[in-house]
Amino acid sequence: MTAAAPAVAVAAAAGRDSRRARLEARARRPVSSSPSLPVPTRSMRRTIEGFRLDEERHWVAALDCGHARHVRHDPPLVERAWVLDARLREARIGTPLDCVRCDRRELPDHFRETRRTRRFTEATVPNALRRSHSTRRGVWGVLHVHRGRLAYRQHAPFDDECILEAGQTGLILPEVEHEVEPLGPVEFEIAFHAAPPPDEADPAP
Ligand SMILES: [Zn+2]
Repeated sequence: MTAAAPAVAVAAAAGRDSRRARLEARARRPVSSSPSLPVPTRSMRRTIEGFRLDEERHWVAALDCGHARHVRHDPPLVERAWVLDARLREARIGTPLDCVRCDRRELPDHFRETRRTRRFTEATVPNALRRSHSTRRGVWGVLHVHRGRLAYRQHAPFDDECILEAGQTGLILPEVEHEVEPLGPVEFEIAFHAAPPPDEADPAP
């Protein structure tokens, strides 16, 4: 990893590059499931796709991001009597729920890589990736930087940016607007991850 000198040089070169200099001056860190990353200013809202019981017979909501969240009725600590009623549970399907595991940027454990882009360089990166865009529901991405440096910005609810260097990865959350910007010569690819087909998934408890 190089020292901070290039950032100083860039800042001196031109005022219009001040944003880039600020980016480079930020602590260099991969965007990953690292717990040290800041959580978003507001929680990620995900959609409930269904419910199942866990081993202890507590209800778990399956969310469209691939995560699961307990929705216990555990009085007097947690009052959620609706979860015991099949009809009331059904009525919650399609409604939003905060997902703390998305807030912590954790790729769902059971997800598998489904597709990988070719390697892009600063010359071949599609314009669509430079503009704000997102993966669709339930599809996660992992940016793999093989050479050079890539600025990676995530929009709401994260609103942060970082610089990925060779060997680092950046996690792309489903439906979160983001964009990339090559900082000089770069080589990177994106691996997409999604839920395995039902017949390959582990049986739910
Ligand atoms: Zn989630």
